[in-house]
Parts: sequence; structure tokens; C-alpha cells
Amino acid sequence: TFELISKHGDHEQVVFCHDPHVGLKAIIAIHNTSLGPALGGTRMWNYKNEDEALIDVLRLSKGMTYKAAAAGLNLGGGKAVIIGDPKSQKSEGLFRAFGQFVNSLNGKYITAEDVGTSVQDMEHIYMETPWVTGIPKDFGGSGDPSPYTAHGVLMGIKASAKEKFGTDALKGLHIAVQGLGNVGSNLVKYLKEEGAIITVADIDMNRTKNIAEAFGAKAVSPDEILFVESDVLAPCALGAIVNDQTITKLKTKIIAGGANNVLAEARHGDQLKELGILYAPDYVINAGGLMNVFVELEGYSPERAFEKTKRVYNNILKVYEIAKRDNIGTHTAADRLAEERISTIGRLKQRH
Ligand code: NAD
Repeated sequence: TFELISKHGDHEQVVFCHDPHVGLKAIIAIHNTSLGPALGGTRMWNYKNEDEALIDVLRLSKGMTYKAAAAGLNLGGGKAVIIGDPKSQKSEGLFRAFGQFVNSLNGKYITAEDVGTSVQDMEHIYMETPWVTGIPKDFGGSGDPSPYTAHGVLMGIKASAKEKFGTDALKGLHIAVQGLGNVGSNLVKYLKEEGAIITVADIDMNRTKNIAEAFGAKAVSPDEILFVESDVLAPCALGAIVNDQTITKLKTKIIAGGANNVLAEARHGDQLKELGILYAPDYVINAGGLMNVFVELEGYSPERAFEKTKRVYNNILKVYEIAKRDNIGTHTAADRLAEERISTIGRLKQRH
């Protein structure tokens, strides 16, 4: 186990949480707290074995360190996983027991929703600890983060247009949106307000039809959307859409969307650079949801959360600056932006 931990990053602390009475088996990983408390959601998943769960939480918590640092937030990176089937193994007791473990860390780790957990689960955690975000609105929480994520994505698209075309006006630009769920549908609404020409696709044909009609967008099939000739491709569905099969068929100038893990592998980011396609790194452009929960820690206000998401614009421009400065792919530049901030600000904080 110790070998696995050191193989997957220089984590500060890994906590194994076990309560057989409620069937709790969970792992909390705190990757880095140089900039602030480690924030990251709790994933509940039917992992095949404990090593798989451990590797997942180590990888995800490290990702959160980079995301928070590049977002300019005073937060570190952490994540938790609960081993179990979210459909059949949830209970109030399980989440309250987990909440007690979170509480025992005294705010060093702050949790939130993730795949397999819901607002109601956060409410149960909140009964045992204040160190949880994403709680219901009537508890002072921030509710659904998707409109904020989508607004941040809009800002990232504008910054990318500025970089590529010299202006951030989206009027008349052709934007293809893949996936019309919580993030994608909100993004289409914002793009319409900007006067963009929009093409959409979702595997749910009814949703595609409804959104296309509501916002005057063109509907295409899920097989076509990635290869539509466009100024911007906004992936808002699943990850790994830029891969060996798709990359040479892309007919867009910018890739900027809400989806996580857009690149199948890092080398695809280098290949996009060679092809002259500008890529807005996923964890920088989709940080609006994280900014929204961060505001919850200060005392939530939807207006302030909305304002904060505008920072994605400058964050994305900073990434492009670093990419040009060091002649590297934008995905590598994003990591460098995060690492530079952790090293400079982290050192300043040590002086106190
Ligand atoms: P969602 O489940 O609400 O929406 C995803 C949509 O994509 C669904 O409508 C689904 O039918 C569609 N889809 C799936 N496969 C598709 C395909 N091959 N072609 C076209 N459509 C397809 O999810 P969401 O909350 O909107 O999140 C979308 C992406 O953004 C995910 O990658 C998620 O990890 C990421 N993200 C979301 C948030 C947030 O605040 N919700 C924050 C950061 C990142």
C-alpha cells in the first residue's frame, strides 16, 4: 500500500475510514495543502478491489490540487472515495459515519458531491461536520454548480477566440456543442445570447431536438458532431474525445468545453499544437463549478459566484501566455501555471 501511494504522487496524507456497522469503507486522500484546505468531492463507486479505489483517489486528489491552483483559489487538492454500490448501499448511517471521519481532519479536507453521491448525501455528512460543500440551498448551500461551470466555459471560449481570432466577440462564430446535459444546455443558452451560430448533438435525440428548437441551433447526430467544420468545438459530454481515431478528422480551430479529461493521452495535446488547433485545458476552463463551491466557504451568494466564474477568462489567457513563452502544448502549460503558483505562493505562506 505504501508503495502504491508513493508511486501515484507526493500526497501529504491518506486516511482509511472503516466502520463495519454501517458498511463504510472509504479512503480520503489529501494531496497538497500549500495554498489552502484540500477540497474535492466524494465519489461512491463499486470498485473491483481496494487497490483500484486507492489509485483512483490518489489520481483524482492530485488533479484537484492542479485545478484549484490554476483557478487562482486558495484551496489545495483532496478527494475521497467510498467503496460500494451507490444504487443499493447508501444509508444515512453510512454518510454520517463518513462525515465523522471528515470532521476528524478539522477542515484540512473539505468534501463535496461527485459521481455517485448526491445533495442528500452531503446533507447527511453535514449533520456530522461543517467541512462539506454542495449542501442544499436551504442549508445555505450553493445548489447545482452546472450553470456556473457553463458560464466559466463561456468565458474560456471567449478568451480562446481572443487568442485565435483577435476578438472575443462570438457573434457569427460557429460553435459545435457535444452533449446537452447540465453543462451543455446552459452553455447553449449563453452562446445564443452572444449571437453564435450553434450546432448541437446529444445521444438523447429528444433532448437534441428540444434544445435545437429552443435556441435555433442545428441538430446533427452524435457521430457527426466532433467532425463538423466549426470555429469552436465544445465537448460537454464524456472524456477522451481527442484520441488516435478522432484527432486527424477534427475540422475545428479551437477545442474549449466543459468535459473532463478531453485528451485521451497527454501526447494528443502535443499533436493538437502541431495541427494548429488551440486547446483550452479542461481543468482550467471547467473550474466555474469549483469557484461556485468555494464561494460557499465564504458565505454563499449566487451573484458573487457568478462574478467569480469570469476569472476563467484570464486564467485561460495565462495558460496561452505560458504555452507561447515556453513553446509547449497548452495542456502542459496549464500544469506549469498550477505548479508555479503552488511553488511561489506556497513558499510565501510558509513564512507565516
Ligand atoms: P450530464 O450527465 O448532465 O450531461 C452529459 C450529456 O452528454 C448527457 O445529456 C448525455 O446524454 C450526453 N452524451 C453522452 N455521451 C454522448 C455522446 N457520445 N455524444 C453526445 N452526447 C453525449 O453531465 P454534465 O454535468 O453536463 O457534465 C458534462 C461534462 O462536464 C462531464 O465530463 C463532467 O465531468 C464535466 N464537468 C461538469 C461540471 C458540472 O458542474 N456539472 C463541472 C466540471 C466538469
